[in-house]
Amino acid sequence: MQPPAPRVRFAPSPTGELHLGNIKAAVINWLFARAHGGQFVLRIDDTDTERSTAAFEAGILGDLEWLGLHWDDFARQSERNARYDAAVQHLRDAGRLYACYETPDELNRKRGLQRAAGRPPVYDRAGLKLTDAERAALEAGGRRPHWRFLLNQTRVVWDDLVRGTQDVDAASLSDPVLIREDGRPLYTITSVVDDGEMAISHVIRGEDHVANSAAQIQLFEALGHAVPTFGHFALIVEADGAPLSKRDGSRTVQALREQGIEPMALVSLLSRLGTAQPVEAFATHDAAVAGFDLATFGRAAARFDERELQKLSATLVHGLSVEQAAERLGAPIDPALWEAVRGNLEQLRDVAIWQDIVSKPVEPVIEDAAFTRRAAELLPEGEPDPETWGIWTKAVRAESGRKGRDLFRPLRLALTAQEHGPEMKALLPLIGRTRALGRLRGETA
Ligand code: GLU
Repeated sequence: MQPPAPRVRFAPSPTGELHLGNIKAAVINWLFARAHGGQFVLRIDDTDTERSTAAFEAGILGDLEWLGLHWDDFARQSERNARYDAAVQHLRDAGRLYACYETPDELNRKRGLQRAAGRPPVYDRAGLKLTDAERAALEAGGRRPHWRFLLNQTRVVWDDLVRGTQDVDAASLSDPVLIREDGRPLYTITSVVDDGEMAISHVIRGEDHVANSAAQIQLFEALGHAVPTFGHFALIVEADGAPLSKRDGSRTVQALREQGIEPMALVSLLSRLGTAQPVEAFATHDAAVAGFDLATFGRAAARFDERELQKLSATLVHGLSVEQAAERLGAPIDPALWEAVRGNLEQLRDVAIWQDIVSKPVEPVIEDAAFTRRAAELLPEGEPDPETWGIWTKAVRAESGRKGRDLFRPLRLALTAQEHGPEMKALLPLIGRTRALGRLRGETA
């Protein structure tokens, strides 16, 4: 029998821009859904109303659309408060919620003392031991409670799709705070309520959530939901092993997009980075889906190499048809120009540079005026075609005795004003005879 189709989710908080670390979760969940004929849910985790903004949410949606990661279902946590209230009531009735009154400072102090005594900084459940009179006194003194989930101090065991069997002693965890002093629910519970009520079958996220998962498994059970299957993938680090540099913003989807990175380059990289499979430039999402296997993701930190991403991106650009390139660029491209330059482009947008070089006046770079002027005289009659460059440079070589770089560099510089670029044999016909002669003579043509 076929296993039921999975339902997975990507649950970003709109408190910042998406970066490589978060979109790894988006890409992996999306591919997992597609690979297994399942559904991908986008959930906006905006319970942190101070830091969440509509602009960040719009940015997240735009980034996912740009990456081609379409969602089958959408939810926003700020619209589901009634559901969280109901879940909280359920936990209260079951005796799994208790009030605590420590301030952040007091909690810090407790943790410091525990560490100093060589003990793990696990919450001591002082709130649980308060008498009614003590609670009343605290409240009379102006304290408002936050609420913790009473964990069962058992071992929580699950078969992680990436990490294998996980076994966490719940006694080593602090009872998580589910409700803040102001009454608002926190991620630990909202996420479980949503995953449970939205029938999420697989929770696939970074390994920084392993401890959360242990507590959340108990919450799924306490709320009467089926416990999903978990998979925790390794986090992305910089090429030198340092944590992903988020501070300068260079790892956001926006920044990579502005650098001219192709969306499929990111999808390609993140679909295989950290697996035993080679990273390939997949031109389509279907190609990335084929062969995608969560079980091949390893536990070692996945190293991000910017150069690798740029290479994937360039490979994808080289493979675009002129129609695809024009559509992506949002402007028409001369097919002959595209054929001439595509194999040389690092970024799609650079096609515009070459479009200008062949069709607009260029101030030539002349290194040896006598040489390029004489070369102009040797340019074969008639409009250049793809054969012309070979015939012409042979003649120039025969007469000047120059070869290799000494021969080609001054011609390229005069004709394009660039040190490097696409093959001249393809560019020369696009530049045309009149402009070529002018530029060789040192004129802006
Ligand atoms: N909003 C959470 C985060 O961005 C979601 C984590 C999860 O996948 O459960 O970290």
